Amino acid sequence: MAAKKKPSVETSTRSSTAMSSTAMPASRVADLLRVLQLAIPEPYCELDHDSPFQLLIATILSAQSTDKIVNSVTPALFAKWPTPAMLAAAPRQEVEQAVHKTGFFRNKAKAIQECSLLLCERHGGAVPKSMEELTALPGVARKTANVVLGTAHRIALGIATDTHVMRVSQRLGLTAATKPEPIEQDLCRQVPQEEWTDGGHRILLHGRYVCLAKNPQCEQCPLAELCPSREAEPAGSVAERAERERRVVESRGGKS
Ligand code: SF4
Repeated sequence: MAAKKKPSVETSTRSSTAMSSTAMPASRVADLLRVLQLAIPEPYCELDHDSPFQLLIATILSAQSTDKIVNSVTPALFAKWPTPAMLAAAPRQEVEQAVHKTGFFRNKAKAIQECSLLLCERHGGAVPKSMEELTALPGVARKTANVVLGTAHRIALGIATDTHVMRVSQRLGLTAATKPEPIEQDLCRQVPQEEWTDGGHRILLHGRYVCLAKNPQCEQCPLAELCPSREAEPAGSVAERAERERRVVESRGGKS
């Protein structure tokens, strides 16, 4: 990894009183969120879905897989078994075959069928709206619950903290933690609650398309001036880099 260069950050005039012991100044967090809003004006979840049930199942299937692979299997899965009752009653082998490409297919088939059964038995076939009820379902941990609550129900009880969110938060100096839950706690302390869902999507998308794990595109990153981990001097203005990121994210990594 190249030697880090000290960023020259413009001084903000906003208040920094909301600083915690592990947090960066509130003004810096506000600047990060403002630039991310510019770069990703319309954040979205990349798991295709038409209902909370579909998003719940797709998120369970996304563990140790990619959204692209999950999106390639869910249309046929939901066409064949469109409701929790139908998926719960499906032959296990057929469900395993349907989700095979996502990896760990036996565990995932079991989890989505048991989850569907509990949705029917406990919640009348609906997806619950509380963290406690969601995390009581098979295959559903806090990250999945945050995705479903924030994206499908628009209830912000936390920030979905996946590998991209973890990496970007660490590089930006938003956390020194290394495990998902402490990182989520650090983020929730610093990011205003109304930004937990959309801000979380923006951080994730920034990690997926710009702040890559092996080769972060610091030269092209609109957050470079605010980032203590940047590895190269930024090229062009913040607005130009934000516009480039907007195009990349909107094309899901394409060249438009
Ligand atoms: S400057 Fe580099 S390390 Fe920092 S957020 Fe941007 S891409 Fe990631």
